[in-house]
Amino acid sequence: MIELMHLEKRFDDHVVLKDITLSMPEGSVTALIGPSGGGKSTLLRCINLLEIPTAGRVRIGEEMLDFHPGQRVGWALIQRLRRQTGMVFQNFQLFPHRTALGNVMEGLVTVLKWPKERARERAMELLDKVGLAHKADAWPATLSGGQQQRVAIARALAPSPRVLLCDEPTSALDPELSGEVVDVLARLAREGTTMVMATHDLRLASRIAGEVVFLDAGAVVEKAPAARIFSSPERERTRRFIASLTHREVEGDNGAS
Ligand code: ADP
Ligand code: MG
Repeated sequence: MIELMHLEKRFDDHVVLKDITLSMPEGSVTALIGPSGGGKSTLLRCINLLEIPTAGRVRIGEEMLDFHPGQRVGWALIQRLRRQTGMVFQNFQLFPHRTALGNVMEGLVTVLKWPKERARERAMELLDKVGLAHKADAWPATLSGGQQQRVAIARALAPSPRVLLCDEPTSALDPELSGEVVDVLARLAREGTTMVMATHDLRLASRIAGEVVFLDAGAVVEKAPAARIFSSPERERTRRFIASLTHREVEGDNGAS
């Protein structure tokens, strides 16, 4: 279970997230949608504490932290919560000087201090899961964007996080390559991986998300099951946003930003 309670994030005077309260059960897939600048990335970054919330509570499984304005949180506590999460970025962020296998092993060996052999075995299992066992020794620069993102997904899953956070995982990919990433994420969803993902990709959201959260100007406008929010959103703002996305997809632009 991931629980966000009254979460707030400010950058100086600019309130970027306002009183966000959401709960996401184990095994659920939640899509965050909304206009650019609406706070999707910041919300993901507040869940893994790449950004420290100004106020509110973040709970992931048994780990919980409360935040108060002006109060610093210790590094060890941040690390404990962060280790419950794995993150996938729009632009992959693989280590260029490590092979695919090396990328997936890296955190297990350097952060979790696993013996190399055990890390290698785990990494190979994960590369196999994302369909890239045959690319274990390839350098990132020789892989397609879709393959790089699948390696990044394997890397994020390596330490068995409780939740996989994905920030626009298909936005940097053309439709064909984004399809192979969507397939991998769909399979993880079927297997019960808890996921929270920011996306403009309606195909991704409607195929794998159970719940969709529409975030605008730092606030939750609407949260509903994916099937319902796309066909009959309750709020006018949500309806307009979804209509604009559908329109762009028809024009052949996947709306990446
Ligand atoms: P989205 O991912 O939905 O496009 P973001 O979370 O990236 O939205 O941004 C939300 C708002 O927070 C934007 O107004 C953005 O300019 C602001 N913001 C994000 N990161 C920072 C930062 N490090 N410093 C100041 N403002 C930021
Ligand atoms: Mg973003």
